[in-house]
Amino acid sequence: MVKQLLVSIALGLLLSTAAHSAGNSSKGSAIYNVLRQQGLLESYMLDAVTELTGTLIRAAQHWPGYGVNRPYVPGNVNIYMIDAARLPEKNILAAFDINLAKHSLQGNAMADEETGILFVDTGLFKSLITVAILFSEQDISTSIGVAAVKARGVDAFRQLWDPAINPALDNAEDTDKWVMLASGAAAFVLAHEMGHIYLGADNATKRRRPMRFKSKQDKDMHWACDSLVDKKYQRQQQIEQKADDFAASILSQVLFPEGLLTIQRLRYELGAHWYIIYSMGEQTVEALYATESQSILNALRMMFGPEIYQELRAKKEGSGRGSVQIFFPKSHPANIRRASRSLGRLAQSPYSFYYNEPPSTDSDIAMFELLLTQECKNLRTRYRK
Ligand SMILES: [Zn+2]
Repeated sequence: MVKQLLVSIALGLLLSTAAHSAGNSSKGSAIYNVLRQQGLLESYMLDAVTELTGTLIRAAQHWPGYGVNRPYVPGNVNIYMIDAARLPEKNILAAFDINLAKHSLQGNAMADEETGILFVDTGLFKSLITVAILFSEQDISTSIGVAAVKARGVDAFRQLWDPAINPALDNAEDTDKWVMLASGAAAFVLAHEMGHIYLGADNATKRRRPMRFKSKQDKDMHWACDSLVDKKYQRQQQIEQKADDFAASILSQVLFPEGLLTIQRLRYELGAHWYIIYSMGEQTVEALYATESQSILNALRMMFGPEIYQELRAKKEGSGRGSVQIFFPKSHPANIRRASRSLGRLAQSPYSFYYNEPPSTDSDIAMFELLLTQECKNLRTRYRK
């Protein structure tokens, strides 16, 4: 399976040389100028992100180079780190047919396949580091950590994620637990977006399209009841699946630097699986905002504890959101089942932490699926009315 994947990637490499039109060059440079002139680029943990990106790019063997917050270079993967909290609500890249606004990027990463630009919210990296430290060093469960960051805002945790205040960030080892979790999660997110660039650079039909649902019913049901939703959205899911598979194929080739471990292991595997748990935490908070079901709310109160539960409920009321808009965010993070299936493939590597064993995330996913099944039932009842 892994071998087949490698062969198909090698074939893809031969067939699609990095031949990009000159038009992308000026578009990419113009986008970089907008970001720079508006002071939107934030070089958060720049050395770590640059090293991580370089590692993925070398493993992918598809791009001649990369840059992080650097002037645009056509043919490269160009990563722009942006603090989404500082973005306006209004799309600032509408002239380029790209949706870059506070709510489209917050907590996410997003690729523009045509230019090979990858936008990342630094808030995502700050949150991953915060929750990884809470989990590894303060014994706080990942879902409660995610809920606390959502309830109080990431700035309330500056003492953990800001290297100017927390020198442990710069002195950490690659094998520290929180580093393995946060870097593996970031690696999966970036490799998934690189998958979109790989798939869609020369083929417009393989690009991710913003979801536009034909009805509120489709929009509500999209994540909780995906099998009930119109086929055209399923095509998007296939593109996402391919991006996940691309990410898994890259991560399956990255080992820890020599000499760090007595037995060699995949460097980003634990963190990539942990990202699934992290995403479930995020999506569970969205469920709390969206659901009308008292039994789900009771379960979430148990899960998060009464204090954080109340803070989230209060935040929802203060945000002016309607009672039900979406069950889950419509862009990334990834669909849990899908991403977990792709990552399961890493266990076929002899360097896997889970070689020939099911990953420990399986029971969490089963719990999460129960929640989905329940909400799907609720939605079906509501729309039958
Ligand atoms: Zn995607």
